[in-house]
Amino acid sequence: MKNIAVIGAGTMGNGIAHVFAQNGFKVKLIDVNELALKRGLQTITNNLDRMVAKEKISTEKKDETLGNISIFTAIKEGVEDTSLVVEAATENLDLKLKIFKELDSTCAHSTILATNTSSISITQIAAVTSAPERVIGMHFMNPVPIMKLVEIIRGYNTSDAITKTIMQLSKTLGKIPVEVNDYPGFVANRILMPMLNESIETLYNGVAGVEEIDTVMKLGMVHPMGPLQLADFIGLDVCLSILNVMYNGFKNPKYAPCPLLVNMVNAGKLGVKSGEGFYDYSENKKAENVSKQFLN
Ligand code: NAD
Repeated sequence: MKNIAVIGAGTMGNGIAHVFAQNGFKVKLIDVNELALKRGLQTITNNLDRMVAKEKISTEKKDETLGNISIFTAIKEGVEDTSLVVEAATENLDLKLKIFKELDSTCAHSTILATNTSSISITQIAAVTSAPERVIGMHFMNPVPIMKLVEIIRGYNTSDAITKTIMQLSKTLGKIPVEVNDYPGFVANRILMPMLNESIETLYNGVAGVEEIDTVMKLGMVHPMGPLQLADFIGLDVCLSILNVMYNGFKNPKYAPCPLLVNMVNAGKLGVKSGEGFYDYSENKKAENVSKQFLN
């Protein structure tokens, strides 16, 4: 397996492309939005530059990594001759179903179809394809080049052979895969999102301010980043989508998104990526601080 495609060049897609390319894979990075592709490549370049500056990789390795990545705006062209596709497009069920239908009719039968979804049912996505046994969840953590964990989610019909291949592949990338079953939020977000939502609820109820809530969790629970800052970093729209998937999937009010989160997303305050969330990221200052604090 040497040729792979990544769909979506946003927060996660560019990180996934980076990691595969750095490990010698030829990566076709696909996004419908040309600006997203440009930004994605820029982010990869900046991250590689940081690694060179820290003497973690050589300049040659940086050039080789960038040379392994090519960009496409159409799925059909991008997925040609690939043995694995990792979908990391926007967290939206209808969009993912549409993409997987297209992948099913475009890719070779032997191509493994993985999704980086944070919470959407792998089984439901696989059901729109003609071979659900080759569909699997490959849930990387943010920021992908740094975080070791990959949650490997088996859909109802995912085959043992595909699961084994993807577990092994994740190790080849220097990651630590953990196999889990397909229920809303899987393991990572089922536990993380209620905590982030409760932090927003605590702010909404006026119990404490943003900095205070984050400081309590950082110092009191030894979290590397406060929950509100983490929500900004993940993307408030992504958090809202995940909570809605769990709320609808379990029909349990404990997963109901806080009205403040809903309001902020409706107002376009999405966190780091939009320049404002619980914190102000204008002039990229705070965003830089967030990344540095997390990455070091
Ligand atoms: P994002 O909004 O940063 O990027 C999504 C990208 O998908 C955008 O660039 C958009 O142009 C592109 N896109 C939309 N429709 C497309 C299509 N039809 N074909 C190709 N590209 C398309 O989102 P993100 O945060 O990178 O999330 C991507 C996926 O990863 C989601 O499923 C999300 O749940 C999951 N995820 C996110 C995080 C996180 O911390 N943000 C962590 C783990 C998993």
